[in-house]
Amino acid sequence: MREFARLVHEHAGELTALDSAIGDADHGSNLDRGMTAVANALDAEEFGSVSALFKKVGMTLVGTVGGASGPLYGTLFLRIGSAAGEVATLDPEALAKALRAGLEGVVARGRPEAGDKTMFDALSPALDALDAALSSGATLQDALARASEAADAGRDATTPMLARKGRASYLGERSVGHQDPGATSTALLIKATLTTLT
Ligand code: ADP
Ligand code: MG
Repeated sequence: MREFARLVHEHAGELTALDSAIGDADHGSNLDRGMTAVANALDAEEFGSVSALFKKVGMTLVGTVGGASGPLYGTLFLRIGSAAGEVATLDPEALAKALRAGLEGVVARGRPEAGDKTMFDALSPALDALDAALSSGATLQDALARASEAADAGRDATTPMLARKGRASYLGERSVGHQDPGATSTALLIKATLTTLT
């Protein structure tokens, strides 16, 4: 979470610039505010379980980010926490399962489908790559590296897409040719996971 906060802060200008092209120019600043609050919350408290930690992350994001991405990222982390449960550590399979539950939460909340030009288009291929790599016996490091590559490819693939969800969908054809801000921040989340857990 700290590494994701650091990356979001470093890329806040870029995320906001992407959102200024097809949205309302707030994605970087909103997520930076939320992840700064998360990092502060992690400094202030000790957490007894993965579940407690991600509950705090999710609630903090819901309370500070706003817009579409606040509830979506909030739900992602709340679901990751509840799927992980009252444990102190996760093995690779449990991590992959928790992330998958997070994606299902995003889908339940925002109803994104593949190709709608949203964060789903980075997260879903990343988790498919993670699951495939783990079930073929890859190490966590290799599996997360493949997940991060898939997230980056999914992010890049949003550029030619026509937005069908969120604010960008109001632009219709004019949304084509711009990289999705939420897919971009989600690729940073997977990159932070790779950097931190390997
Ligand atoms: P807002 O559009 O309310 O200003 P943000 O700018 O913070 O919110 O986030 C925009 C991002 O949220 C988009 O780039 C997209 O990835 C994601 N998004 C928007 N609507 C949905 C949805 N229904 N399902 C999944 N992701 C969505
Ligand atoms: Mg916005």
